[in-house]
Amino acid sequence: MRTSQAKEQAQQQAHATRPRIGFHAPIAGGLQNALLKAHEHNCDTVQIFSRNPRGWQARALRDEEIETFHRVRAETKIAPVVIHANYLINLAAADPLIREKSIASFREEIERGLALGADYLVVHPGSAKNACEADGIRTCAESLQRAAADLDLKQLRILLENTAGQGACIGHRFEHLRAISERCTALRLGVCFDTAHAFTAGYDLREADGLAATIEAIERNVGTENIRAVHFNDSKAAYNSRVDRHWHIGLGHIGLEALRRVARHPQLAHAAFLLETPQDTIGDDARNLNVLRSFVATARRST
Ligand SMILES: [Zn+2]
Ligand SMILES: [Zn+2]
Repeated sequence: MRTSQAKEQAQQQAHATRPRIGFHAPIAGGLQNALLKAHEHNCDTVQIFSRNPRGWQARALRDEEIETFHRVRAETKIAPVVIHANYLINLAAADPLIREKSIASFREEIERGLALGADYLVVHPGSAKNACEADGIRTCAESLQRAAADLDLKQLRILLENTAGQGACIGHRFEHLRAISERCTALRLGVCFDTAHAFTAGYDLREADGLAATIEAIERNVGTENIRAVHFNDSKAAYNSRVDRHWHIGLGHIGLEALRRVARHPQLAHAAFLLETPQDTIGDDARNLNVLRSFVATARRST
């Protein structure tokens, strides 16, 4: 009784709060530069790659790099720090060679996240090419647990990201994320909600009732409180196209009004909102951040 009252109170409070805001910042010249860039843009939070996202080999982090990152983080007070795992990882792979490489690489991602004191590590469930969806889900859960075996994750939480469902990718339904989480009994997984992926996977965010149905699907399957990060993106690809193309906030198929409703949704106010919009010209990030800020300007920040 008391816990449900407390939960209700927290939900009411969330009405008056705004989410933490940030973007995926580049790490060129050193990981700490992403923190400085986020700070420059007046962000609360940031997402980074902790290494080259498109190569299997990653150079080990040097002690001084880790120390610098911790120092700059303390100075800038950026939180939470979110790491996005590299794109080659496929924890659902039917091919044993790719699967083993993926498990080893994801374990490295966890170890780097721990060394850097990151809060969240975002990963896509992967592709079940040459296998069925159910096998992909099983394989993904097994791989996640093997990658994390015997590691003390401390504050670091792994977040499964919903996908656009391109090709044989699993994770485009919240039912998939639930099935993977339920199988990972040794891990306390969270969820990263990508608006562009959900939209092109068939969750129609354009109208208020479509958003309500999406939030309901999240609540039913994984619980909205487990959404720790939102990848806040408009979509260049059409509704239900199963294509993953992020676009500038308000200029894509989801649109300004619909994204404003997402940003102001009380059941998402506790999450870190991170832009992954195109960075083609100088000022793109500042512009998209300003649009997101304008959505939540009247609400206080949640702490
Ligand atoms: Zn992602
Ligand atoms: Zn995407």
